[in-house]
Amino acid sequence: MIRLATAVAALACAAALLPAAAQAPQRPPIETRKVEGTENVYIFRNGNHQAMFVVTKEGVIATDPVAYGRPQGGAQYVAEIRKVTQAPIKYLVYSHHHYDHIAGGQAFKDAGATIVAHKRAKERLERLQDPATPLPDETFERRRTLRLGGTALELTYVGLNHSDSTLVMRLPKEKLIFVVDLLPVGQVPGRGMIDFHPLEAEESIKRILAMDWERMIPGHPGPNDRLGTKKDVEEQLAFLRHASDTVKAAAREGKCWDAAEKEVKLPKYESWPNYANNLPFVIRRYCGLWGRGT
Ligand SMILES: [Zn+2]
Repeated sequence: MIRLATAVAALACAAALLPAAAQAPQRPPIETRKVEGTENVYIFRNGNHQAMFVVTKEGVIATDPVAYGRPQGGAQYVAEIRKVTQAPIKYLVYSHHHYDHIAGGQAFKDAGATIVAHKRAKERLERLQDPATPLPDETFERRRTLRLGGTALELTYVGLNHSDSTLVMRLPKEKLIFVVDLLPVGQVPGRGMIDFHPLEAEESIKRILAMDWERMIPGHPGPNDRLGTKKDVEEQLAFLRHASDTVKAAAREGKCWDAAEKEVKLPKYESWPNYANNLPFVIRRYCGLWGRGT
């Protein structure tokens, strides 16, 4: 009986997976594309993670190896860069300290890259000594600009938000930014809420909106691979504020954690991708704030 139930459950799972698989049968696991309208900016995607790299005549500035759980991921990323240019890989910038984005940097070190990150990313990585994640060679606290072959890449720390080490990377000439995990494009945030700083994040997002840029490359592909806009960022901020206000009301009725996680819904956002799966992460984090004080 138990075995039959397991088999039925397995079939149900397989059936549930079919529509998603049918939607994207052609998508290769690894892909590199040039950002439309630019001469030298590329997006490297591995599975559902992606990173930006910039090619100049003096060398390459790469970001995020995106190789957590993918022992060959860093080498595959370097190989993809080599399909575009033989110029040396001068820098590898870590967007923040989370392994799903920065594991796999050894292949870049072996290629001669200097790893740059926020100073708190290094402090965390030093303590944890993850074998797949080399320590940054250079760190900074507020702002640093990498200049290479006529390209400037501005790295700015705008405060606590998705992590305590998140950088905003901006290409002023292209009016492009690369921001990882803080600003999902057109979707409900999920595991990214685990170590999220809710109040400070709103301030960070306002600072990002005040910067001069037109398009944003997210760390996870947006719907149909589209880039983000300021409108997307405004909508994400509105989502977070709405979630925060709604959970605050529930918290003040004593409903955090279990009752809030069961009862709180944000129907306005039902049509956003990942609504059902990710809403519990959002509610739990805001219960931490309003129902606990953290
Ligand atoms: Zn993250």
